[in-house]
Amino acid sequence: MTEHPTANSADTPATAALASNILNIRDRLPPHVRLVAVTKTFPASLVRQAYHAGLRDFGENRLQEALDKQDALADLPDIRWHFIGHLQGNKAKKAIERFAWIHSCDSLKLAHRLDRLAGETGARPRVLLQVKPLPDPDKYGWSVAELSRDWPQIVALPALNVSGLMTILPLGLSAPDVVSAFANVRDLAAKLRNDSGLALPELSMGMSGDYPLAIEAGATTIRLGRSLFGERLQKM
Ligand SMILES: *Cc1c(COP(=O)(O)O)cnc(C)c1O
Repeated sequence: MTEHPTANSADTPATAALASNILNIRDRLPPHVRLVAVTKTFPASLVRQAYHAGLRDFGENRLQEALDKQDALADLPDIRWHFIGHLQGNKAKKAIERFAWIHSCDSLKLAHRLDRLAGETGARPRVLLQVKPLPDPDKYGWSVAELSRDWPQIVALPALNVSGLMTILPLGLSAPDVVSAFANVRDLAAKLRNDSGLALPELSMGMSGDYPLAIEAGATTIRLGRSLFGERLQKM
């Protein structure tokens, strides 16, 4: 899809095209895979259209942009918001209160802070730990070795609802390298599960460019932006 389905009217051609694109993608997903629609840079009106096409899970990577859309869509009762971007410590309280999921807990320091805030506020969003199966200086998150090292401390946090792992792979990998990097994340989750008894059910991995391979490797949640909505309005 190349046009931007941002029209406000409920039944414009753009809306119909968006709905059929969403249904097409969703119909091909295994039923156990959760589809998070990544709506960063798109207006609340597009989120509303996607909601009416049947989606319920929406991902945003900037806190203020997300809060504005949440306010504009407060009438949608069962919408679930996922925070998928780097979270600064001073915004952690808002994030924990306003999101159902935080996919991007990317340091031990942030894990401690989210745990303290969860304790203070009573909010218990699902928290995923962001892992880098390959070295990637441009991204936040734990390497496999670092997360194994920090894991006992994370398990001991009393209020943090640690529910799984999340990853974003570096660009430009071959398909076999993508598959093996996703498999490394899956295997790390299995090892952490064994070491702790935590259920750790969620693997958030796969974006527009690589989600079929992520599902093959065991993803339970995929995060799609461009394949649902076309190119973003501004470069992120
Ligand atoms: C933007 C973004 C996505 C979606 O990327 P697409 O290539 O548009 O599917 C997924 N995950 C994260 C963390 C993102 O920031």
